[in-house]
Amino acid sequence: MSQPIAQTTTPVAGPHPTETRPYRQSLYEKSYLPLLGGMLVTIRHFFKNIFGLNKSYTIEYPEERRDYSHRFRGHHILTTRPDGSVRCVACFLCAQNCPAECIHIEAGEHPDVNIEKYPVVYEIDMLRCVFCGYCVDACPEEAIIMSNNYDMAYFTRDQSIVGKSDLMKPYTFDENLLGYRPSFPEEDVKRAQMRRGAFDLVAAAKQAQANGG
Ligand code: SF4
Ligand code: SF4
Repeated sequence: MSQPIAQTTTPVAGPHPTETRPYRQSLYEKSYLPLLGGMLVTIRHFFKNIFGLNKSYTIEYPEERRDYSHRFRGHHILTTRPDGSVRCVACFLCAQNCPAECIHIEAGEHPDVNIEKYPVVYEIDMLRCVFCGYCVDACPEEAIIMSNNYDMAYFTRDQSIVGKSDLMKPYTFDENLLGYRPSFPEEDVKRAQMRRGAFDLVAAAKQAQANGG
């Protein structure tokens, strides 16, 4: 009968500390001087703004809002078909490409035989999301896009997990307030014009050279 092999447990030194140690403040930190320094900056800006020496960049939020880029990556939108059903076909590509692993999908069989699947559950954990837009890039159906909406405040952790019904109800359908999305028709037109212009310049230069200019 073979003897059991004795197991040796040699602790391996890891790259990270294994013990917690209390943070020791320096004398400078204990004296509250950094806090005072911060307050002096605030007071300086306060008086500069009062006496008009500073150009003030404050706005009356939320009544006033900044114009954000139409590529801004804000709250997601699940787009819909003309009949109001969700365009998503539950292919999971967005979830696979999400670096924060914050998309949860449960797929179901679609009643329409032309559409294989649809998301019975589609949730995004907004507190984990890093707003990288990879889900938008990955989606083959343009079923997920982003808006300019940056108002994301939650009272409980549960509220930050946004479900299908909320994602399908964007705060705006205004084209100008949409954010990051796969196609930007107006930019594509501008880029095509710039390319055309560059080609024309090259053609004109070649022609001038051929004419001995
Ligand atoms: S924006 Fe990025 S982090 Fe957020 S859900 Fe999409 S892929 Fe994930
Ligand atoms: S990639 Fe698009 S179609 Fe696929 S599951 Fe995500 S949102 Fe739906």
